[in-house]
Amino acid sequence: LRTLVLVLGDQLDLDAAAFDGFDPAQDAVWMAEAAEESTHVWSSKQRIALFLAAMRHFAEALRAAGRPLHYRRLDDPGNLGTLAAELQASLASLSPQRVVMTAPGDWRVWQSLKAVVERAGLVLDVREDRHFFATVREFAAHAKNRKSLRLEYFYRELRQRHGVLMEDGGPVGGRWNFDADNREAFGSEGPGLVPPRATFAPDAVTREVLALVETRFAQHPGSLASFAWPVTRAQALTALQAFIEERLPLFGRYEDAMWPGEPWLYHSQLSAALNLKLLTAREVVHAAEAAYRAGHAPLESAEGFIRQILGWREYVRGIYWTQMPGYLERNALDARHDLPAWYWTGDTDMACLRDALTQTLAHGYAHHIQRLMVIGLFTLLLGVRPQQVHAWYLSVYVDAVEWVELPNTLGMSQYGDGGLMASKPYVATGKYIQRMGNSCAGCRYDPAQRIGERACPYTTLYWDFLLRHEKLLAGNTRMAMQLKNLARLNDADRAAVRQRAEEIRAAATAAP
Ligand code: FAD
Ligand code: SF4
Repeated sequence: LRTLVLVLGDQLDLDAAAFDGFDPAQDAVWMAEAAEESTHVWSSKQRIALFLAAMRHFAEALRAAGRPLHYRRLDDPGNLGTLAAELQASLASLSPQRVVMTAPGDWRVWQSLKAVVERAGLVLDVREDRHFFATVREFAAHAKNRKSLRLEYFYRELRQRHGVLMEDGGPVGGRWNFDADNREAFGSEGPGLVPPRATFAPDAVTREVLALVETRFAQHPGSLASFAWPVTRAQALTALQAFIEERLPLFGRYEDAMWPGEPWLYHSQLSAALNLKLLTAREVVHAAEAAYRAGHAPLESAEGFIRQILGWREYVRGIYWTQMPGYLERNALDARHDLPAWYWTGDTDMACLRDALTQTLAHGYAHHIQRLMVIGLFTLLLGVRPQQVHAWYLSVYVDAVEWVELPNTLGMSQYGDGGLMASKPYVATGKYIQRMGNSCAGCRYDPAQRIGERACPYTTLYWDFLLRHEKLLAGNTRMAMQLKNLARLNDADRAAVRQRAEEIRAAATAAP
């Protein structure tokens, strides 16, 4: 064997750089399902099933393309349980002259595979991942000599370099950013009829995976009942088209809106297909731009959507690869509490959080504002160790791969990097949640109350957060208004907030 091409579960692209120069007469592909990838964090059933189903379908695509494949199934007798052990065994039996892969999305996996290949006396040829617009090197060049990193400038650079939404050398519409035109809530009448989610009924291959996950990972969180994710490239393209036609026009306006019992709203639900590389980031961005140019979607929606992919998604990848491995350990706010046990069940009387957690466990999905301003906000205010929050996020979402999950969780949501990723901690009272959705109407708490039995835990904990971190945040001009309001609290108010916060904290982190 000349070349063994390693393909991981999030590298399901027949055109990936690892296949450049592939010759079926001399080369072969290697894929392995390893239990460790589902247990190193306590992966949800939906997440495990999605990865396995997509991998098995990709194996079929490889065979159809005539590429010789060595594929190890989880339920093969003698499966060694880890990618490293499986690879070591394959290198011994296949004796390839060289090993090639596309740059992986997880530091831990990269380190362990590299070590195995080197121990076998070979060099691991890691190729650039062309899926992304920017290389890590380009990000590093952008970041060099900057005291703080901000999305906006990096995003503008990429728009210019790749000619996305550009006209006569400037941004289409004369502005780079339409955030101010977006961010509406639904109003008291609610979202009305939202287009139904694009669903893909499990075929025989997927059904076999679902049964395997149900038995092998019976105790893992979440449920498989609603499993309907795209697991092939053809299905992912159908999902993309449905999004562009049905949801993109209102994506921008309702990007930040929430509504109880409405998990999907106008979001694309394409993150998993993108992260598994069933779709390329370029084709998704181009489809959104084409919809705008054809008059199908307003500019603020197309720009708002493209900003998420060409902007945020590229930006967090740059942060991950320039900051690892130290990033994983950061805890700038010295948060030390344990994650509430009910994060794994959704069993809480806070209506907004119950809704977001229940939906997460049912579908492996929550949209951005739920992840940031409901689920993540609560752990930030409570003071949960960011590493535990990270492990939870990496477990539960179908789109969770460490390069994208970690900076979003530890950096953007928990401020664990002390402001590298976000210019200030994303903190708010329950009134923000009330403004963006309708959960408070069905909740036993009151977002306007700071102390007392009916005080919304978010509101109490928000003031407690400012009290606890007043000194640290004092130099941050973006926090000036919030700290000015804090200064109005007298000593008695402060003591009452602290006491109520301690009660909430004790109840939330008590052993079940
Ligand atoms: P849409 O709202 O339709 O957005 C379009 C696309 O933009 C997404 O599919 C995604 O690819 C990209 N995108 C949007 N926001 C971000 C962002 N902040 N960072 C990177 N890409 C973004 N996204 C993941 O893909 N995997 C994760 O594990 C993940 N963990 C997160 C954890 C936290 C605490 C937070 C606050 C955000 C996280 N995100 C993650 C980002 C974002 O919430 C999801 O990408 C989005 O909710 C996926 O749903 P969607 O496809 O309907 O997105
Ligand atoms: Fe959430 Fe507070 Fe509103 Fe209840 S009152 S739904 S806990 S924000």
